[in-house]
Amino acid sequence: MSRIELSRAKSAPVPLGTLIGRELRNGKVEKPFVKYGQSGLAKKGEDYFLIKTDCLRVPGDASTAFSVFAVFDGHNGISAAIFAKENLLSNVLSAIPQDISRDAWLQALPRALVVGFVKTDIEFQQKGETSGTTATFVLVDGWTVTVASVGDSRCISDTQGGVVSLLTVDHRLEENAEERERVTASGGEVGRLNVFGGNEVGPLRCWPGGLCLSRSIGDTDVGEFIVPIPHVKQVKLSNVGGRLIIASDGIWDALSSDMAAKSCRGLPAELAAKLVVKEALRSRGLKDDTTCLVVDIIPSDLPVLPPIPRKKHNMLTSLLFFGKKSENSVNKATNKLSAVGVVEELFEEGSAMLTERLGKDFPLNKNSGIFRCAVCQVDQPPGDDGLSVNSGPFFSPASSPFLCTNCQKKKDAMEGKRPSRASITA
Ligand SMILES: [Zn+2]
Repeated sequence: MSRIELSRAKSAPVPLGTLIGRELRNGKVEKPFVKYGQSGLAKKGEDYFLIKTDCLRVPGDASTAFSVFAVFDGHNGISAAIFAKENLLSNVLSAIPQDISRDAWLQALPRALVVGFVKTDIEFQQKGETSGTTATFVLVDGWTVTVASVGDSRCISDTQGGVVSLLTVDHRLEENAEERERVTASGGEVGRLNVFGGNEVGPLRCWPGGLCLSRSIGDTDVGEFIVPIPHVKQVKLSNVGGRLIIASDGIWDALSSDMAAKSCRGLPAELAAKLVVKEALRSRGLKDDTTCLVVDIIPSDLPVLPPIPRKKHNMLTSLLFFGKKSENSVNKATNKLSAVGVVEELFEEGSAMLTERLGKDFPLNKNSGIFRCAVCQVDQPPGDDGLSVNSGPFFSPASSPFLCTNCQKKKDAMEGKRPSRASITA
């Protein structure tokens, strides 16, 4: 059982429908405000932001607005970071079916994020450039926060109960044994840099290439086992709101999640982002690009996030878990309090296996005889190369999503299978 499965087993995610039902019973659903601030100091100039607060789920319908925030920390050049900033969002959105309800849309997001990340990586690969980038991509729709991430730029949440949680996983070879195993099994070599006399220095890296990360967008020259498949986590904040801090490793190498959250509590987002950067620089100096985005999700009847109670919160939380059980008798005040610090986990998955992440229920339009690739969404009529890859005795539309030739090749390469090379040696 992987670590993620374990953590899921501990607290089973609550189905979105159940939550929405509960919210409706407790009163009207009001959309929170989203306020944000950004700050950054460049050392190498390879960090990029994406901020888009005017996205619409249904074109022309302002009530379906959602926001996207992302940090891209490039390495070995800036082209992958720029390419991801410009293409990732549209690649994610184009993988979500049209004309579906809000909760179906939110449920489709985790898979669409996987598709969008892989598609962006394939497209960048086709440009023939060699840089790579981390991508921490955060979508805020009402109280629901969905985070997809490759690399080591983190997103944390700080809720009104004073609970700080990490919404991403660090894809660093040094710190992630599961990823080391995967990379090694797929043909990569993991080790430290060798200097004169065979002394090993620095963090664990993947060779050839010497990358410290196990997942990224780009890095075509390092090896395909450095995959673009994101860890995805979807949570629902309580209706007292909370703060997200999205930042590159320049921040996280200097500050723990707790330190970053506490350094800026009580301040508006714009000021908070500046303070987190300042705090990181104070303790470590400007050693790397240091980029920070602060996103506040604020109840619509409040001007800013209310201050977090300092000491009493343990007692409060335990008291209020009682309040939560008697849902029928809540008045507005206790309803607000009962949700303090409670973040409901809706979804979490981090597997690096593409097929697992795409799931089994991809629609195939069999009547028209056209197969649509689950990743690049290109239609492929039967008889083309793509179909023949999947149409052998083991191809069953019910159990595996259809992939075109190109995307199938990418999938095999990510898993360390190299059919082209194997057929040469055979
Ligand atoms: Zn494809």
